[in-house]
Amino acid sequence: MQPGYIQALEKGVLQERIKKARQWSAKCCLCPRNCGVNRPEGELGFCRIGRLARVASFNLHFGEEEPLVGERGSGTVFFAHCNLGCIFCQNFDISDNQSQHPEVYPNQLAYIFNQLQQQGAHNINLVTPSHVVLQFLEALEIAAQDGLNIPLVYNTSSYDEIHTLRLLDGIVDIYLADSKFFHEQEARKYADAPDYPHKAREAILEMHRQVGPLQTDDRGIAQKGLMIRHLVMPDNLAGSEEWLEFFAANLSRDTFINIMDQYRPAGNAGTCPELMGRVSGERVAGLMQKARELGLTRLDERSSGIFRFLF
Ligand code: SF4
Repeated sequence: MQPGYIQALEKGVLQERIKKARQWSAKCCLCPRNCGVNRPEGELGFCRIGRLARVASFNLHFGEEEPLVGERGSGTVFFAHCNLGCIFCQNFDISDNQSQHPEVYPNQLAYIFNQLQQQGAHNINLVTPSHVVLQFLEALEIAAQDGLNIPLVYNTSSYDEIHTLRLLDGIVDIYLADSKFFHEQEARKYADAPDYPHKAREAILEMHRQVGPLQTDDRGIAQKGLMIRHLVMPDNLAGSEEWLEFFAANLSRDTFINIMDQYRPAGNAGTCPELMGRVSGERVAGLMQKARELGLTRLDERSSGIFRFLF
């Protein structure tokens, strides 16, 4: 299956979308923060990224979901800073909007993409890309002209605007979407984003509309589709049951869902005692069971308590 961005490049669609993203970044409305700053002129909004993306690291990553990792790894590019900014972020050193990771020009980012492909990556996995949509599209145009031809993964917190996601329609092959807070109260308290639940639900529906459930090749490697992640939190702060019910009611029952058990207090979690807890294996196993009862058939089994016990 040919990645969507190659056809988009050949038809001139990619170039049109870049133009649109450039316009929007001049009065930035690319994500729900809607800061209105002129980023090409170096003005900074919530994410504190102006004209150029910052890259914290890039490598072949083997810790992602199996359909992304395959035998040779997922070509992850970790963008620095974040438009959501959860206080307990599991990657706080990368997401911190004050961090000073190196800026990269589009041609440098394109080089990174092609290097990862040369190293054997099954895909280009853009980690936390919502605030650098313009920058990765510009790089993609260059990289595709230079021979990039593996699937593009948009690995997001889901704090995305619908109009920005529509820029990516036919360009992104795989959406890897977090489902963080189901309720406004927690989204406000832990990310200062009370609209997160509404925006994320809308975004997930749009991603599903664009790419449908996960499709893999005969080796089981992801080619296209939506993959969902849900990090279970202490005290049910993420609203896990509600998310599962939302998925069962609104997405294909065979949507790939990874219920993740690896929460640990990180970042500034210490400012809130309730964030200092842990999530038990029993809790995660219970959620896996609930998902099955709701008819969700494609669960990533790696996080289940049984799996952890056996392996
Ligand atoms: S991408 Fe950054 S500057 Fe633009 S609206 Fe979002 S947080 Fe603000």
